[in-house]
Order: sequence, then structure tokens, then C-alpha cells
Amino acid sequence: MKIIKPSFEILDTINAPLIIATIEKIARVCYKSEDRITANSGIKFVQNLISKGHEAMLEHVSISVKFICDRGVSHEIVRHRIGSYAMQSSRYCNYSKDKFGKEITVIEPFFFRDDDVLYNAWKSLCEDAEKTYMFMLSNGATPEQARSVLPHSVKTEIVCTYNLREWRHFLKLRTARNAHPQMRELITPLLDEFKQLIPVIFDDIIVENTEF
Ligand SMILES: Cc1cc2nc3c(=O)[nH]c(=O)nc-3n(C[C@H](O)[C@H](O)[C@H](O)COP(=O)(O)OP(=O)(O)OC[C@H]3O[C@@H](n4cnc5c(N)ncnc54)[C@H](O)[C@@H]3O)c2cc1C
Repeated sequence: MKIIKPSFEILDTINAPLIIATIEKIARVCYKSEDRITANSGIKFVQNLISKGHEAMLEHVSISVKFICDRGVSHEIVRHRIGSYAMQSSRYCNYSKDKFGKEITVIEPFFFRDDDVLYNAWKSLCEDAEKTYMFMLSNGATPEQARSVLPHSVKTEIVCTYNLREWRHFLKLRTARNAHPQMRELITPLLDEFKQLIPVIFDDIIVENTEF
């Protein structure tokens, strides 16, 4: 059994000036103020759109992100309806095969310390589930049947494509204090990266208490 940490990868090459220019060009159609576009007008204009709540204009740009997380977190992610998904399937993936290393992979819950009795209880349960899963496959079960015994912690990969309005909504909800700790662990660094890569769009989303 392999134990890994969760991670993400932004799949698009982010061209921030192009993103801002695209939103400005489209939104200025509303006000017929295209003549006011200059080399530097975009950032302030987009800032104004967001502060006025005219967020529909942000729907014209989308970004895809691949997450590696556990099945509990992925299940929460797919509750967001304004997006498109591609997700590693536990029906079609057979973890007894060479390409999966003949083992399951699980995401480490950061809140159980290595030497903690809770960590050992979690690890032992996952190992038992793996043994039963492999036993079932070797006795004629299909992966889609044997997956019934796999725990929430099993690793999955999920690509999410959201427009920038949905990313804002998702990032606000999923970095909030009451979001699941493993969701916050995964999503808070993504918000930081978006803030670094793209000016203005995410600046107003503040994460309270970054200790999960
Ligand atoms: C802290 C937390 C705890 C949660 N606990 C539970 C729980 O115990 N049980 C549970 O079932 N779920 C739970 N959820 C999931 C939650 O109910 C939502 O399904 C999920 O957060 C998606 O949010 P959303 O509907 O706002 O956003 P999205 O689906 O991402 O949609 C974005 C926005 O589009 C609009 N929209 C989308 N669809 C419609 C529609 N049909 N009609 C009108 N407007 C729409 C809304 O404004 C919505 O906010 C929880 C979520 C969080 C963050």
C-alpha cells in the first residue's frame, strides 16, 4: 500500500494579461466603452466589475485543474454543478495490475500524526481493506465489485474545469473555516497560486486561520 500526500496541478498555461484583457474586452460591450481600453485599463476595470458584483463577466474564462486527493474530498468537489469533470474510475482501474504497482494508493490524513494511535488505526484499516480487495479480485470479483471494500482514503485523480466565477465561489466555500480540513489543505495553496498568477480576480478571498 502506497501512502501519498494530496496535490494539484493547474493544467492551463496561465496568461494573466490575456485573461484580464479578454474579460475587459467582453464586459465593455455592456457599457459600449471599448474606446476606453488602454494598455493599463484592464486591472482597474475588472476590479470594478468584481466590487460591483458584475461577476457574470468572469464566466467568459475557464481554467482546468487536476487534483490528486482522496475519495471523500473528490465527492465534495463533484457537488459543484457549474463545471466539467474527468475522474479516475475505481470501476475500470484494477489496482492488482502492474501499472498500479499491484497495490492501492491512499491519501494520508494529515491530522493523524505518524506515531499516533489514530494514525496506526487508520493505516491498519487501509491495509486490511487492500488485502480483502486483492483477495476478492483473485477469487473472481471484478474491480467494480471489489471496490466496495475500499476506504474513503483511496487516492483518485480528478480534473475540474470551472469558469473564473465558479472558481471564486468554489475557493470561498472550500477554504472557509468550516470546510473539511483535507479540502482546506488541498485548496488553500491553490488559492495562493491563483492569487500569484492572476491579478485582481481572487484578491478579495481571504483565508481565515490557515492552521487546519
Ligand atoms: C462546509 C460545507 C458543508 C456541507 N455539508 C453538506 C452536507 O452535510 N450535506 C450535503 O448534501 N451537502 C453538503 N455540502 C455541499 C453543499 O450543499 C453544496 O452541494 C456544495 O457546496 C456546492 O455548492 P453550491 O450549490 O453553492 O455551488 P455550485 O453547485 O458550485 O453552484 C454555484 C452556484 O450556482 C447557483 N446554482 C447552481 N445550481 C443551482 C440551482 N439548481 N438553482 C439555483 N441556483 C443554482 C448557486 O448560486 C450556487 O451557489 C456542504 C458544503 C460545504 C461547503
